[in-house]
Amino acid sequence: MMQSIELNLIMSQAITGSCLCSEVRYQVDAIAPTAAHCHCTMCRKFHGAAFATLVPSQNFRWVSGIECVREYTAENGTIRSFCRRCGSSLGFRSKGTPVDQMEVAIATLDQDIQITPEAHIFTNYKANWFQLSDDVAHHREGKS
Ligand SMILES: [Zn+2]
Ligand SMILES: [Zn+2]
Repeated sequence: MMQSIELNLIMSQAITGSCLCSEVRYQVDAIAPTAAHCHCTMCRKFHGAAFATLVPSQNFRWVSGIECVREYTAENGTIRSFCRRCGSSLGFRSKGTPVDQMEVAIATLDQDIQITPEAHIFTNYKANWFQLSDDVAHHREGKS
């Protein structure tokens, strides 16, 4: 009995995410407490949005639908993961970074999480139609 209670606790604490069609699912042990809104041209294109909100994760792994996961490597070597079936933009990692250190697109997480976006970055490349109107710090390039 004790064992099953412990197992439930662990499962309820797991952080999970998925794509739009639910084919691809992932899990992480933890995410960083802060995230950045990235306005760079590549994030805008990849996410089809004004900006992408990404957060470093700990022990990222795909749990289902890995056959639907595709990776796009940009000219600068950064790697972006997405679902080939529904097109959901799921993750980002720098050149040479292993999959288990994926930065997660937090909009694809399945549950509410305790996190505070702390910065807008690469605002030099911001869409002209998007107005920055919050109190979060702005960085014209990456965070220094
Ligand atoms: Zn999908
Ligand atoms: Zn970006």
